[in-house]
Amino acid sequence: MSQKIRGVKGTRDVLPIDTYLKDDDPWVRIGHFHLVEQSARDLFPLYGYREARTPVLERTELFVRGIGEVTDIVGKEMYTFDDRGDSVTMRPENTASLVRAYIEHNVNQQEPETKWWYLGPMFRRERQQRGRYRQFTQIGIESLGSPGPRIDAEQIELLFRWLRTLEIPFEMHLNTLGDAACRPKYREALQAYLRSRASELCEDCQKRIETNPIRVLDCKNPKCQQVAAGAPKMEQFLCEPCKVHFQGVQEMLGRLGVEFVLDPKLVRGLDYYTRTTYEAIATSGLGSQSTVAGGGRYDGLVKELGGPDIPGIGFAAGVERMALLLAQQGKERAVRPVVFIAPLGDAEAARADALAQQLRAAGLAAEVSFRKANPGNQLKRADALGARFALVLGEQELKTDRAKLKELKTGAQHEVSLSALPDEVRRLATAG
Ligand code: ATP
Ligand code: MG
Repeated sequence: MSQKIRGVKGTRDVLPIDTYLKDDDPWVRIGHFHLVEQSARDLFPLYGYREARTPVLERTELFVRGIGEVTDIVGKEMYTFDDRGDSVTMRPENTASLVRAYIEHNVNQQEPETKWWYLGPMFRRERQQRGRYRQFTQIGIESLGSPGPRIDAEQIELLFRWLRTLEIPFEMHLNTLGDAACRPKYREALQAYLRSRASELCEDCQKRIETNPIRVLDCKNPKCQQVAAGAPKMEQFLCEPCKVHFQGVQEMLGRLGVEFVLDPKLVRGLDYYTRTTYEAIATSGLGSQSTVAGGGRYDGLVKELGGPDIPGIGFAAGVERMALLLAQQGKERAVRPVVFIAPLGDAEAARADALAQQLRAAGLAAEVSFRKANPGNQLKRADALGARFALVLGEQELKTDRAKLKELKTGAQHEVSLSALPDEVRRLATAG
């Protein structure tokens, strides 16, 4: 026998069956992913978001400029390779790609405001942990062209409603990062403070003091958190327009009924991230990887990537983390066959295939048995598939056009006419 080939570390298979179990993860099945995805497809367009898809491969340069050289992602997590002279990277996130597409297709000349949503795989070479993978899926939204604060509040309300609908337990955290007018002063004050306590920081944060001091605030190392707790706060440095913006967001959230907590530790390290930042943090069920979605305003990004001076704001949500939470709650959305048809012989098999075809044409899910087995085993198979009804077809049924449709949950038998099967099934299925 040839040697087995295993999946790549940090990637995972999501199967429709109950055999997928890894570490202490509950069984995450494809149905949990469908719940997350379908709820986004249903909800986001109600707010005017339209789906956009960009390639997995982009020029490396896009992420170096769009995410920033001093970030963990660009510094050590990207899958980058040489494509015969061009350096390309498998996208670690989608915002930079969407902004690239927005600029490349001059979208701002066609519409003053753009609302896009996306769904797809992202790639980061991180340490594999529960809720942290090297290939993972994000669903997110981006809004370009509106300076806020109304759009900021609208996005946060969308995220709030989405997670509420899915019954995910979470808290919405909110902060502001100021802008080009006020942040530099804050950065200086923060740097001075961090330098005075440098010896208490982790190695990474000691470097961050000079490259990206704001990032020290969200370091997960407990010693760094202690230092961060005593750091000067952005709030004290906000310029008047940033203050007004932030107050506006909070007032609107109040009017929209969105509960939130102010969290000065919520930061993005780069200059083109401005003002509003927000995160939805699961309050149970995810352990240390508890951030379900993170978002924020990036008023300098479009310009940074060579486009016009256009403001933007968006969030990205981790689908695996959401699916994990749904799996823990035992929630799933699965398509089950309505009817399972088991023919006993060859003549019945041909009729079974034709009946299944008619049922599907009528929009009813149907499966036929492809194996010879006694009626008892056929019923077991129907049960395992989660079918609502089972139909065993023998010589007698074909001759008389009458058959018994067995309702698997209750054991009730309904006599039906084979030539009118789709109508009969629909009538019984809607009857309760
Ligand atoms: P974290 O602090 O958890 O590393 P991040 O700041 O790197 O998050 P973002 O880049 O803002 O995360 O991505 C948004 C969301 O995408 C995260 O909140 C999380 O739900 C999900 N996510 C990010 N990285 C991973 C990963 N490696 N595996 C699974 N999900 C991820
Ligand atoms: Mg990360």
